[in-house]
This record gives sequence, C-alpha cells and structure tokens, in this order.
Amino acid sequence: MGYYLTGKAPADVIAGVLGSITVAEVLSQPIAVRDTSTVYDTIVTMFVEDVGTIIVVSEGGFLEGVASRKDMLKAAMAGKNINKLPVSVSMTRMPNIIVTYPEEPVLRAAQKLLSHQVDALPVVSTVAAAEGEKLQVVGRFTKTNITRLFVQLAGK
Ligand code: ADP
Repeated sequence: MGYYLTGKAPADVIAGVLGSITVAEVLSQPIAVRDTSTVYDTIVTMFVEDVGTIIVVSEGGFLEGVASRKDMLKAAMAGKNINKLPVSVSMTRMPNIIVTYPEEPVLRAAQKLLSHQVDALPVVSTVAAAEGEKLQVVGRFTKTNITRLFVQLAGK
C-alpha cells in the first residue's frame, strides 16, 4: 500500500524529483542595491520591486549582505535619518550570508531556507579574485520559487 508500480514510495518519488531540479531552473532575477545605498533607497527598492529581501552588492555585483523587511523596519524605528543611514549598517553581512548555487538541487536550497529560518537566498557563482574568492550574484531563490514549482509539478 502507498507504493507506485515503480516500487518506489511516494516520498522517494518526490525527493527524487526535487533532488533533480536545480536552483537554476526556478530562480528569480536578483534585486540588489549597492552597499553605498541608504536605508531609505533600499526601502524604496523593496516597494518598487515588490520583494521582501534586498541583496546588497559591491561594485561588480559581488555579494556583501542581505537586508530584510524587518532589518529596514528596525533601522527606520531607531529614529535616525534613514536618508543618510547606509544600508550596510543594518544588513546581515558576509561571511554570515547563507547562499545557494545554480547547480544546487532545489531540495537542498529549500532545506537551507528552513534550517536558517530566512525567506530568501542569494544565488551565487564563485569567482577567483586577487583577495580570495568572491561571490558573484546571479539570482535570488525564495519561498515563492518553491510555491511556483509546487503548483507546476501538480500540473495546474
Ligand atoms: P524578516 O527579517 O523580514 O523576517 P528574514 O526572516 O528573511 O526576513 O530575515 C531574518 C534575518 O536574517 C534578517 O536579519 C536578515 O538580514 C537575515 N537574513 C535574511 N536572509 C539571509 C540569508 N540568506 N543569509 C543570512 N542571513 C539572512
């Protein structure tokens, strides 16, 4: 009972499917601001782009940090001038950013979202640089990507 004709349990079939689909197949465009941006500009970008997490990059698009809705709310509530306050003061910064890679299975990336209790992961590729490895931002992986995949897999 509970087995398909293939002899595989449904959970194994789902794990197999999600383990074979890569982040590259479901990712969204990265929505990013420069590390020199203000908290005000970051909040405006959040509204205009309709995202809850902003990726913060240095010149060349290399990952510096992540600013969430609550990070920006906290910064705005502190009573400082958010037109002057750099986003870099209020973001979570490297090397504490949890990332995913285009070739990573969706299942593994989804597990990262859950285990680290975050809404989004920057999708990066590693680039060798004089000062060590840098992470080039190539996309964004969110709970919405998983929800969309979930509905697509159901054929709806
Ligand atoms: P919110 O803070 O709006 O609830 P999240 O749950 O995504 O949104 O973020 C919680 C905290 O984790 C924030 O301080 C945020 O900067 C940080 N954060 C968000 N995404 C990541 C990530 N991919 N890696 C590390 N920290 C993150």
